[in-house]
Amino acid sequence: MTTNIKIHDHSSWMFKERPYYFFGPCSAESLEQMRQTAAGIKKHYDKVIFRAGIWKPRTRPNSFEGFGEKALDWLCAIKEEFGFKITTEVANPYHLEKCLEAGVDIVWLGARTTVNPFAVQALADALKGVDIPVFVKNPINPDLPLWIGALERINGAGIKQLGAIHRGFHLSENGPYRNYPRWDLAVQLKAHFPNLPVICDVSHISGDPRLIPHVAQKSIDLAMDGLMVEAHFNPKMALSDAKQQMTPDALQRIMEHLTPKSKSSENPEFTNKVEVLRAKIDQLDEELLEQIAIRMDVAKEIGSYKNNNRVTVLQISRWKQILDQNLKNGKSLGLSESFIHEFLNVIHDESIRQQTDEAND
Ligand code: PEP
Ligand code: MN
Repeated sequence: MTTNIKIHDHSSWMFKERPYYFFGPCSAESLEQMRQTAAGIKKHYDKVIFRAGIWKPRTRPNSFEGFGEKALDWLCAIKEEFGFKITTEVANPYHLEKCLEAGVDIVWLGARTTVNPFAVQALADALKGVDIPVFVKNPINPDLPLWIGALERINGAGIKQLGAIHRGFHLSENGPYRNYPRWDLAVQLKAHFPNLPVICDVSHISGDPRLIPHVAQKSIDLAMDGLMVEAHFNPKMALSDAKQQMTPDALQRIMEHLTPKSKSSENPEFTNKVEVLRAKIDQLDEELLEQIAIRMDVAKEIGSYKNNNRVTVLQISRWKQILDQNLKNGKSLGLSESFIHEFLNVIHDESIRQQTDEAND
């Protein structure tokens, strides 16, 4: 996939103020709720970007859908009183227009907007000629090109203060998470656009404050550029996402226990050691590929025997035996079951592809 995203150089505020902390309630519910939450955050932080949903995309109608424009006034009041930059979600050109009129500093596209290229393009068209930071959440489904496409559309409209928000993906099985992190996709996004700031929305991944320390530390270890966390002065009373919100004090306790990491180190001993280990890894990767190529040659040979004897390529009992045997071996070597499964599956898929090609030649 070739992609070309042009973003601001280091003169923009976006590149000076990392890590970005987007803290604030899921939704703006009243001026009082916003003020009490902002005051709780201000006790610990001077420079967060205060978030609050004004228009809420809800799965079912007749749930709380946000207070709309009057909530925008409450958000602006927070900027005025506490000096925080303010941000909210925009889902259509009307939301954007209202935010620009009101002086919202940063806007983001939500997961339910990113999935729809028509909606993203409508926002991109409305952003032409506007210079405001825009963050794009990943789509609900684990589709990296769709996420990249949305970033490209916004960037194509001339938005250079661009960022991404990783909020996890809704799979049929999400494990302990509300939205499965699929860290690999966030890492691939960073590999495509090394200069694009990517922050982690730990609240929507976790769905439960108890998971947040683990998810936040993981995002720091993966060199993400900041965190989005939902905080509410009284989470139990929240009109949306009550289960995943926490008080500003609880948020601060979590933040205190995270270990910050930097992307590099000046220490020459560290650099030397890492170089030696990287050379080892390069060597091992090379050997691994050589062994896999040899394995494929053997598979092709079996493929032609099967073909000559009119035997099917797929032999389910043999595949089960391979899985069982290697799961046992791999686990005793300290590899995780899910990794062994995934690894064997791609190897087996490729073997079958090579055998069927051989058979059809
Ligand atoms: C939110 O940030 O409150 C929200 C609705 O998020 P998402 O688009 O990630 O579901
Ligand atoms: Mn929310």
